[in-house]
Amino acid sequence: MTRPTVAIVDLKALRANFALVKSLAPQANIIPMVKANAYGHGMVEVCRALSHSAPAFGVASIDEALVLREAGIKQPILLLEGTFSSDEVEIASDNNFMLMVENSAQKDAIINASISRPVSVWLGVDTGMHRLGFQPQEATQTYLALSNTDNVAKPIVAASHFACADDLGSSATKNQMAIFDRWITTLNPAAGDVIAESLANSAAILAWPETHRDWQRPGYMLYGNSPFSEDQDNANKLQPVMSLQSAVISLRHIASGESVGYTANWTAGRDSIIATITVGYGDGYPRQAPNGTPVLVNGARCPLVGRVSMDMITVDVTDLNLVSIGDKVILWGPELSVNEIAEYCNTIGYELLTRMPSRVPRVYSN
Ligand SMILES: *Cc1c(COP(=O)(O)O)cnc(C)c1O
Repeated sequence: MTRPTVAIVDLKALRANFALVKSLAPQANIIPMVKANAYGHGMVEVCRALSHSAPAFGVASIDEALVLREAGIKQPILLLEGTFSSDEVEIASDNNFMLMVENSAQKDAIINASISRPVSVWLGVDTGMHRLGFQPQEATQTYLALSNTDNVAKPIVAASHFACADDLGSSATKNQMAIFDRWITTLNPAAGDVIAESLANSAAILAWPETHRDWQRPGYMLYGNSPFSEDQDNANKLQPVMSLQSAVISLRHIASGESVGYTANWTAGRDSIIATITVGYGDGYPRQAPNGTPVLVNGARCPLVGRVSMDMITVDVTDLNLVSIGDKVILWGPELSVNEIAEYCNTIGYELLTRMPSRVPRVYSN
């Protein structure tokens, strides 16, 4: 018997979520975001599972892209932050990596590179996120410079990123889109040049159809969780891909007034039965989870009690009829949303999934 703590990754659910993206924007290309180990799900396996349908993938760095190449993934791979040094342009050209261009140094590195095969570039336009990309005016000059070098393949993709697309009541997304659209109508490309466009992340794909352009960039939604804190019709169709599971390894009765775990931060208000589960912050279960965070034991919601340890948590199972050592526990998955756990921990599901460590075996099901 090995340790029962595993992350089951349901590739059928992943493909269903991809199909939902497709159904929402049938004409668009879909570039799955697989950065940070595919949000913790396993980058190589996720790309393999989508390789028949996805025309490209998106990662944060050239190191992530090279891992995919070494695993035999053939599609173009977009480096979302572009290059970090000029020597990466040549590697990108050799490996069919697409480069986001976010600043002048990255633009110059591409123009000055001695490469035999042109690279595809995505021009980052800052429409209000104010983190990366060119202000619209600079973006025009950069576009012209990039379109005039043989080092760049056509078409150039003009891209922008939304700050608040998950906020259904905010006007920020439409404002950013208007800035982008105004900019692109002034661009006036050379005769025959086409510009492709890309704006939408998961939230925009689900809720802001007017932002749908040539390339859709879904991340979180592919993994089956909603980017919204409220109910949203399309998001309700998503199927969670990861199920983080473990098992009960110890049971004990404690008397009212006894406390549990490090710092003794929970004290029983009644005679209680405590189940110890072999999952902890060393497995990505957040230490900031407070008393009362729900844990599914034999399918029933039970409250976390006491501090999360590195390898274990403790749960109050007093109200369950029958619990035994070895019984199945679910920390998050289709039956208990990672978003709900994240809310208890003052974070977002993105973070909980992304920081899942390699200690937890990923078990893939088709
Ligand atoms: C990560 C990322 C996305 C995907 O965002 P989700 O909210 O996970 O869909 C899209 N575009 C860019 C530029 C990104 O960095």
